[in-house]
Amino acid sequence: MPDPRPATAPGILKEIFGYPAFRGRQAEIIEALVSGRDCLALMPTGGGKSLCYQIPALLRSGTGVVASPLISLMQDQVAALKELGLRAAFLNSTLSSRETGAIERALVAGELDLLYVAPERLLTPRCLELLGRTRIALFAVDEAHCVSQWGHDFRPEYIQLSVLHERFPQVPRIALTATADPVTREEIVERLRLRDAGIYVSSFDRPNIRYQIVEKANAREQLLDFIRAEHALEAGIVYCLSRRRVEETAVFLNQQGIRALPYHAGMDAPVREANQSRFQREDGIVMVATIAFGMGIDKPDVRFVAHLDLPKSIEGYYQETGRAGRDGLPADAWMAYGLADVVQLRRMIAGTEADEQFKRVGAAKLDAMLGLCETAGCRRARLLDYFGEATGSLRPCGNCDTCLDPPEVWDGTIAAQKLLSAVYRTGQRFGAGHVIDVLLGRSTDRVSQWRHAGLSTFGVGTELSDQEWRGVARQMVASGLLAVDHKAYGALKLTEASRAVLKGEQPVSLRKQAPRARPAKKKRLAAFDGLSAAEAGLYERLRAWRADTARVHGVPAYVILHDATLRDIAHLRPGSLEALHAISGVGARRIEAYGEEILSLVNGATGV
Ligand code: ADP
Ligand code: ZN
Repeated sequence: MPDPRPATAPGILKEIFGYPAFRGRQAEIIEALVSGRDCLALMPTGGGKSLCYQIPALLRSGTGVVASPLISLMQDQVAALKELGLRAAFLNSTLSSRETGAIERALVAGELDLLYVAPERLLTPRCLELLGRTRIALFAVDEAHCVSQWGHDFRPEYIQLSVLHERFPQVPRIALTATADPVTREEIVERLRLRDAGIYVSSFDRPNIRYQIVEKANAREQLLDFIRAEHALEAGIVYCLSRRRVEETAVFLNQQGIRALPYHAGMDAPVREANQSRFQREDGIVMVATIAFGMGIDKPDVRFVAHLDLPKSIEGYYQETGRAGRDGLPADAWMAYGLADVVQLRRMIAGTEADEQFKRVGAAKLDAMLGLCETAGCRRARLLDYFGEATGSLRPCGNCDTCLDPPEVWDGTIAAQKLLSAVYRTGQRFGAGHVIDVLLGRSTDRVSQWRHAGLSTFGVGTELSDQEWRGVARQMVASGLLAVDHKAYGALKLTEASRAVLKGEQPVSLRKQAPRARPAKKKRLAAFDGLSAAEAGLYERLRAWRADTARVHGVPAYVILHDATLRDIAHLRPGSLEALHAISGVGARRIEAYGEEILSLVNGATGV
């Protein structure tokens, strides 16, 4: 017998989902959808999109039908809803025909609150016919940016989803995405034929993510230090540009005692999927991946996202880093970036077969990304500014590397002139390595082969180290004071803008390099912040209990309860079921299923 359900959105939020308050624009979206209006919801990852259709589906009569592109995720989503005592199911190719038949009958009989279906399946005549015989509360189109032909997640079947409007004009639809840009937004409205839609754009700020971009020296070792110092035993994602680097980095981390798995498009699908599923279900795995590992990572407790290579655009960087900290607990976005990254990406863009306009757009996007890397100001302000939020009025955030540890800026005019002149005198045919050797007066083979020891710039730059010169070169390439010749294997050459610097007409201000090996701040796991030793012990026991329970139920641990909820329980040590129910994330169903077990763990801890 299903429990009598609360009849209001706040009631459902509290009783079923266990949350005390709506976030951002959730309440408005829910109200609009319940009243039958089409909606477009743009929210950052972790913003809480799912509730925006789940609650209206419970408040309206009939079943909420969700078009969701990722089969692997449907299963976990449905498991999570069932944990909450809701009647949810999915239809996809993993089901037997008997199972499919049972779900179809339940659907038509009005026994489902929510049904998840892959778009291509939703579009089949059989499915449409079935829906024709069903009372439908609403349609939700998840990852709606997949309709955009220009986006990197384009899926042709998404365009045909406009048929839902033609066949079921009276059923309200909501499209949801974490993609921010206005062009995609318009494409979604137009292609899905959302009529008179309410458009809800949330802030794209993710205040719990700390942004940090370090200068690359030995990227793998730096990554290892970062993980060991800040995220030992925690789940994270490491993005690399190439498949080979993914494989090598995963092997390296494992050798260093960190549980890491590789993921890239060149792997056999079953292995890749097994790795994704382990990452999703087990605690504390590091996934080393190309950007093929992307949409549909639904794990709330990813504590860090690290980039070993520079992303091509701020959009990409924002999306990838956004996978950290969906649960709202502190998380890190860490990147190591160096001169070679700039050279390589500039070369890749210039070398593509694409037309000029494409190259121009690509180069502009890369410039914006480089600006973020090289800024001496707040990273978050820069990111949000890029997405058009509150231009100019953004305050330093206090939670990024440049806010926490502002870089020194120095007058690099003379250094810049020396570098430009060395590039010029060596004939604009060498990469940074050789040019720096010349500045430092090193007698390498190449120097003698080209007789560069005789140049006037030979040995004039000994006031800076090799690494510091690389920093100068990188910043100059990033800001267009030097160019990379992609036809000559990354040789440095002068640009229009170089002239003014050489003539002394334009001063150059540069960022000082952060000291190489910063002593690692010992940081405790995010969830332990602010817990006493006794509370931390209880938190650990609660996690162990959750791991066992999740195993028995065959679901990921976070489906039972989130880290943030366990943390609050450990901190507040509720003494009664009411007190437990008052904690965010503990709904009625969880009280019923686990209340007593949790209380006895808490009581054991207080020794009552
Ligand atoms: P998105 O799909 O936007 O990335 P989700 O719908 O998966 O985000 O929600 C992210 C997390 O935030 C989930 O764990 C969800 O339970 C939680 N959440 C959503 N809304 C609220 C809320 N109003 N209060 C507390 N937690 C919430
Ligand atoms: Zn900041």
